[in-house]
Amino acid sequence: MPKDFLQGARDEYDVVVIGSGLAGLTAANTLAKTGRSVLLLEQHYQLGGMATWFKRRGGHIFDISLHGFPAGMIKSCRRYWTSEIADSIVQLKNIRFDNPMFSLTTTFNREDFTRLLSERFHVPADAVQAFFDTARGMNFYDDQTTTVGELFARFFPGREDVIRLLMEPITYANGSTLEDPAISYGIVFSNFMSKGVFTFQGGTDRLIGLMREELLSNGVDLRIRANVERIHVRAGRVEGVTVNGRRIRARSVVSNSNLKATIFQLVGEENFEPSFVDQARAVRLNNSSCQVYMALRPGEALDEACGDLLFSSSAPLFRTESLLSRDVTSRTYSFYYPRTRPGSNRSLIVSSTNANYHDWAELSEEDYQASKRDLIETTLDALSKYVPDLRQKLDYVEASTPRTFEHFTRHLSGASFGTKFEGLAVSRAVPEQVGGLYHAGSVGIIMSGWLGAMNYGVIVANDVDGYLLKSSAGAARHEAASLAPGT
Ligand SMILES: Cc1cc2nc3c(=O)[nH]c(=O)nc-3n(C[C@H](O)[C@H](O)[C@H](O)COP(=O)(O)OP(=O)(O)OC[C@H]3O[C@@H](n4cnc5c(N)ncnc54)[C@H](O)[C@@H]3O)c2cc1C
Repeated sequence: MPKDFLQGARDEYDVVVIGSGLAGLTAANTLAKTGRSVLLLEQHYQLGGMATWFKRRGGHIFDISLHGFPAGMIKSCRRYWTSEIADSIVQLKNIRFDNPMFSLTTTFNREDFTRLLSERFHVPADAVQAFFDTARGMNFYDDQTTTVGELFARFFPGREDVIRLLMEPITYANGSTLEDPAISYGIVFSNFMSKGVFTFQGGTDRLIGLMREELLSNGVDLRIRANVERIHVRAGRVEGVTVNGRRIRARSVVSNSNLKATIFQLVGEENFEPSFVDQARAVRLNNSSCQVYMALRPGEALDEACGDLLFSSSAPLFRTESLLSRDVTSRTYSFYYPRTRPGSNRSLIVSSTNANYHDWAELSEEDYQASKRDLIETTLDALSKYVPDLRQKLDYVEASTPRTFEHFTRHLSGASFGTKFEGLAVSRAVPEQVGGLYHAGSVGIIMSGWLGAMNYGVIVANDVDGYLLKSSAGAARHEAASLAPGT
């Protein structure tokens, strides 16, 4: 008989959370800490969503999305998770750029960027300061019509090199482009500039392991291999879910699944107003990614001069289309030294490139495998510029594509960062359409990435708690009224 991954689960919970990405995990933990009964359902065999890892023969462990996040993670992890998690966050101090316009190493914070922009790019100091202050001052309620390209044109007209320095890492960090609203860039860029780029020591496996322990100690009922097929709605309110063929009731449901998959596949458009459906249909998905994972033989060292993160490109100019093209000219390398996992003697490299789902989705199996091999070979060639004896030191190599991300996380088109900016308004409006139903997860650039997703989980958990309090108060009032004399 197949194993029942829901064995012992109750028939009803205060909240069902669908998906264990960082937003789902954080929403579940926050709600459990307020005393709510929470069931967390994850279709994969591992928690974490995109915040994940995999192990391969020889004991190599590859991280998928542990490349860098802003210092704000320390505060969020301390406040919403544990001190042990927060204390394991460390800075990546060597961020490198190498492209036909410039080669440099930076700590990627405001102080160092101010120095570079003035001394190396000869931008007047007042323009640099005004740009940083404008980016820092942006908030969600600001003008959403100015694009990133227009923002740059205002402060650095004609300076393609400066734009590349300021934009290329953020495009990698969340898929944003020069055509996106400036606000989405300003918030993310300023978050990084406040203190630099950080990582989690011990790897994603350790982080998610610590989160799992914390969830269990707070009483969350955690279930893996639990695929939610349907979210049930009756009379404008959420009723529960069907998971692995079993129906479970819930007063509230938080979906951490892709926003469009939540609306169109799990709930069904018949449960929303037509104007909302149109708005949701118009939401654009973000782009996807390809990665090449390379492990050196145990004990083989990497020269630390490679840096921690290297934004490398052979394209003469910075263009969004060339970042997404199958003809790869730009790659971001994450160098993982043994200190990434203290006690290990492993050095690994992950190369990431942004990618279009459709360039990969329609390939025949034969062409797909050939394209993956080509991706690996061209990446090894490109990386040998920085690690000359790479092929001799290599123990293991593997590639992933947009199809891989789609398969493991169910994100439509393998979107690495959920949806474009307009997804945020739709995500926030879901509970206005269906009482008790919420969405928390990568949307709108600001709410994606490790920090954005985690913080969005907290925001939504607070909304859910408010809803549950209000609906309990409503039920109590109703009960009191029906018991009152004369009624
Ligand atoms: C290649 C790559 C590199 C990245 N690098 C970085 C980086 O360096 N720094 C950074 O900050 N961010 C990075 N990111 C982005 C970051 O990882 C994500 O934005 C973030 O982890 C997403 O969290 P989330 O909560 O939105 O959920 P997701 O991670 O999208 O997880 C959603 C979960 O829901 C589950 N699910 C979906 N449907 C169902 C269903 N029907 N039933 C049950 N479960 C379901 C999925 O299996 C998945 O576990 C990267 C992403 C990618 C792809």
